[in-house]
Amino acid sequence: MIFVLFGPGGAGKGTIADRLVDRVPDLWLSRSWTTRARRTGEREDAYVFVDRETFEANADADGFFEWAEYLGNLYGTPLPTPPAGADVLLEIDVQGAQQVRHRCPGATLILLKPPSRAVQEERLRARGDDEAHIAKRLAEGAEEVRIGMTIADAVVTNLDVLQATARVAGIVENCRSAASQGGGSSRGPTAAPAEPPAPHPDPREGS
Ligand code: 5GP
Repeated sequence: MIFVLFGPGGAGKGTIADRLVDRVPDLWLSRSWTTRARRTGEREDAYVFVDRETFEANADADGFFEWAEYLGNLYGTPLPTPPAGADVLLEIDVQGAQQVRHRCPGATLILLKPPSRAVQEERLRARGDDEAHIAKRLAEGAEEVRIGMTIADAVVTNLDVLQATARVAGIVENCRSAASQGGGSSRGPTAAPAEPPAPHPDPREGS
């Protein structure tokens, strides 16, 4: 099964994803590639940090499950390689979530929203991004939520990290039990029938 945690910057996706894999058994968090420079104090394994040429070569070789350009940097999920028996968790932006929806209609898309613009801004500022970048992310954020609401299977507001983690964990557990009762898809019996994967949309082609 594939679970996608997506939403605007400052929603707290990274924190919730880390807590989720600690708490939910057999859930494997994919590590993305990015062309963004590592932030001061950011973990070395937060991403696979690569240059643009390396990233584009991997995209051209169909090495990504999905990828997108976000505020001038490229981000991509490599083809997932979870341990046997584990489900996959992706922590990505809304463009990536749209691609996953096309490729895997049965994936469960969970939109994580910040509780308010003020909290979102505070969380973005705490990461040490410059003011211009924060302003761009806030402007993008409203549109990301608007699009996200049209594709999400579930929406969780991150007012409190413990509570939001528990809600997302509950969604994962419900999907697993629906599938084990014969739903056949992580989205349960009401899910759209599986289609063959759509051709991989290329974010460089002006979408
Ligand atoms: P940041 O630069 O703050 O780490 O991430 C910027 C945005 O890119 C966030 O919304 C984050 O979730 C998203 N992102 C991280 N990895 C991926 C990925 O592999 N694919 C896509 N589409 N977005 C990603």
